[in-house]
Amino acid sequence: MDTRREATMQRHIEKVKRALAALGDLRPGSLSTQYNVCGSPGCRCKADPPVKHGPYYQVSYTRKGKSSTKFVKKEDLPAVRKQLKNYESMKLLMEKWIDLAMELSKCDWPKNQRNNWENLSLSSFVH
Ligand SMILES: [Zn+2]
Repeated sequence: MDTRREATMQRHIEKVKRALAALGDLRPGSLSTQYNVCGSPGCRCKADPPVKHGPYYQVSYTRKGKSSTKFVKKEDLPAVRKQLKNYESMKLLMEKWIDLAMELSKCDWPKNQRNNWENLSLSSFVH
């Protein structure tokens, strides 16, 4: 791979890093909308056709293997939507960074690093 292509990829990585640094608050998960039925008899949610209560907004996410759901107030929706979007952008940017880094490593693999890697593989075979 020529050095110009290498420099271009380095520049792209710098761009990805800057974009990551510029991201605002993050929130993992997905937003969903719910309509509920209550317990009081004669309520509009039991009319024909029913007018259910809601919408209620909630964010579901999995963190360290544990799933959770949090209700979101209507006034917090714009901020939460933005945080969810930032999280998705962060994941895409990291994928991009990893792709670029792996592409770069094909042409720029330090010799001593390669030797270490070979030694490591060998020692894991021995034990
Ligand atoms: Zn009701």
